[in-house]
Amino acid sequence: MTEPCLIPEAVPAPRRSLQARIVWGKRVVTVGGDAPVRVQSMTNTDTEDAIATAIQVKELALAGSEVVRITVNTPEAAKQVPYIREQLDRMGIDVPLVGDFHYNGHRLLTDEPACAEALSKYRINPGNVGKGDKKDRQFGQMIEAALKWNKPVRIGVNWGSLDQDLLANLMDINSQRPTPWDAKQVMYEALITSATESADLAVKMGMAANQVLLSCKVSGVQDLISVYRELAKRCNYPLHLGLTEAGMGTKGTVASAVAMGILLQEGIGDTIRVSLTPQPGESRTQEVVIASEILQSLGLRRFVPSVTACPGCGRTTSTTFQELAKQIDDYLRMQMPIWKTKYPGVEHLKVAVMGCIVNGPGESKHADIGISLPGTGESPAAPVFIDGQKALTLRGDNIVQEFHKLVDDYIEKRFGRVAETV
Ligand code: SF4
Repeated sequence: MTEPCLIPEAVPAPRRSLQARIVWGKRVVTVGGDAPVRVQSMTNTDTEDAIATAIQVKELALAGSEVVRITVNTPEAAKQVPYIREQLDRMGIDVPLVGDFHYNGHRLLTDEPACAEALSKYRINPGNVGKGDKKDRQFGQMIEAALKWNKPVRIGVNWGSLDQDLLANLMDINSQRPTPWDAKQVMYEALITSATESADLAVKMGMAANQVLLSCKVSGVQDLISVYRELAKRCNYPLHLGLTEAGMGTKGTVASAVAMGILLQEGIGDTIRVSLTPQPGESRTQEVVIASEILQSLGLRRFVPSVTACPGCGRTTSTTFQELAKQIDDYLRMQMPIWKTKYPGVEHLKVAVMGCIVNGPGESKHADIGISLPGTGESPAAPVFIDGQKALTLRGDNIVQEFHKLVDDYIEKRFGRVAETV
């Protein structure tokens, strides 16, 4: 009898979707198929303010966003899109831009060809393309623009703006059932039907199926899981995943991580966005950091070196180890835009910053480089472990600075040499 293997798969088997290509210049972002799950984000600047928007897109891209969406809501905003693109190109930021259209996208994409050309993808919300007989005509105009400029589209359904005619129709059908479904079930069905029927219509109009991405965003964790599990079963379009209106701070972070974590573990989701409401004064880039952390925590991607730090307890009455852990974490993140090219593979580095002798040496040995700081009552010495071996002991008032330098030296020695041979 074969013994059961208890080691989990590091990376869950993905749902095999079609593969889309989101292109700007020489930059090609593949989505779906065997591509890694991509991180997306969205600006919150007024797109009519081209400079502010270009600056925020740059910040999001440098934080790790692989695609950035911007609102295109007015003729003036549409006119600014090529200018935003030009500013980004001048700064060397080749991140593809996605235009987010509602209500008037058909007109903007037709009347502002430079905007249609400068964008790398169009987001179409089937609930907001028009009512009655205008709906198919205006949806068709947007698909025609996508065909003309050879751009992929995302059919992005949101339960806050669900196609009300479709919902009413499904409610009518439901009332005829011998045992009618729960209202929530009808809502799920409406979301999925809106997305898949619109996608199928786009394909019928001439779009390649692999250039149509889908999303069905809702704001409840259990709702999102139910909707995407079903959506994934019914089609093989690449799926964009996100908990819409996730909220602020801890609540938004945890809800997004839980909902997307479960789906990603099941192999569902080809791109993700964390729709976090920034706290006053908080950078928009936080949503990129969280999205990257979700993927990194699941073992699906590596973006930055990981810092393992213990929570501290009654054995750590000073804040030294908290400060050191934070400084190292901030430093590693800040350096990544440069290190990505200078030190290939540095994102796999593991650093440990521990608070006392109980788990400090053990955890530090599991890291590439780790330090076990002295807990309360311990002698003021901090052993440093490199590649699983005790390398030296730091003492005195400059432990933080000295450990910082040891990390720098380790990176240069281990990853700098790789760079030289490439
Ligand atoms: S390693 Fe030491 S300081 Fe950190 S949580 Fe464990 S016992 Fe507390």
